[in-house]
Amino acid sequence: MTSICSYLRPDIASMAGYAPGEQPRVADILKLNTNENPYPPPASAMAAIAAFAEGGAERLRKYPDPVGTDFRAAAARVLGVLPGNILIGNGSDDILTILTRSFVPQGGVMASPTPSYLLYETLARLQGARFETVPFTSDWGLPAPWPLKGANLTFLPNPNSPSGTVVSNDVLRRLAGELGGPLVVDEAYADFADTNALELVREGLPVVVTRTLSKGYGLAGLRFGFAVADAALVDQLVKVKDSYNCDALSLAAATAAIADQAWLADNRAKVVATRRRLAEALARLGFLVTPSSANFVWCRYPSKPAEELYARLKERAILVRLMRYPNREPGLRVTVGTEEGTDRLLAELSRLLT
Ligand SMILES: *Cc1c(COP(=O)(O)O)cnc(C)c1O
Repeated sequence: MTSICSYLRPDIASMAGYAPGEQPRVADILKLNTNENPYPPPASAMAAIAAFAEGGAERLRKYPDPVGTDFRAAAARVLGVLPGNILIGNGSDDILTILTRSFVPQGGVMASPTPSYLLYETLARLQGARFETVPFTSDWGLPAPWPLKGANLTFLPNPNSPSGTVVSNDVLRRLAGELGGPLVVDEAYADFADTNALELVREGLPVVVTRTLSKGYGLAGLRFGFAVADAALVDQLVKVKDSYNCDALSLAAATAAIADQAWLADNRAKVVATRRRLAEALARLGFLVTPSSANFVWCRYPSKPAEELYARLKERAILVRLMRYPNREPGLRVTVGTEEGTDRLLAELSRLLT
């Protein structure tokens, strides 16, 4: 009998698929591999979920608001844009998919600097598009001029993953001016940085900013992200998304979370303080550490392979992300944990290295 898989699109059958960081199902593992916030989400978001449940089954019987009117109003207030500038998504990965489907024809070109977020290449393959990369300079800057003009869509994570580095808005402005196509500034980690590209959207440049509640708001399990873009573009993107891409529960929690800027400021201060302590301690242990504007640090130990350190930490129930890229030394991307988690990591590393 013919296997049903033989009818698949050949490019799907032959592609590897995006490999997310491990999510072990055992307790007691110190998880520093997927950049989740080490602290619980805002109590206001949990209260919104409880209030939703108290509202009764009737609230789940009906479809949710397809465009997330309340979320858009709350986010617009916080970000200094209009509700019409906001597109809601089932995580920011959903937003990246919507942008790909909207801008990139089959056989088109998608681009991003490298090393950066690995999902972009997966999105290109799913779309039947060519994926082109431009290497970051040795100090994680962008080559000027940008060598790849006219791509159908260019992605730039800012802060970048795995490096945690940022490029300035002046550089982004120049890049947006010379691309000859739309630029997506993926701001998954902007809540931990000192800069963001919202003003480029307000200036009317061909730029879309994407955000997530997974990192800065401690809500990776909720699945909620959004885009900030030209209002006329948002109207077009709404046609491409699933009609009900965000469920009623996630909308209620996300609306409460984004309104809770006091919580965000407090959480950010804690994570940034621990990030500084972690980076300094890793450097004292002999790591080469890249200065980070995100909730993780990128580091490498000159005389021990990253693979070995990754494996030894895993034996000690500490999970970090081992990253390998063509033409680069492999390194470790270490999520900023709690103060206690950071103590445990540093204690294990100093045992391993001395
Ligand atoms: C985590 C991450 C995302 C995805 O966030 P979700 O909202 O959880 O889908 C997007 N881009 C980058 C660079 C990320 O690190």
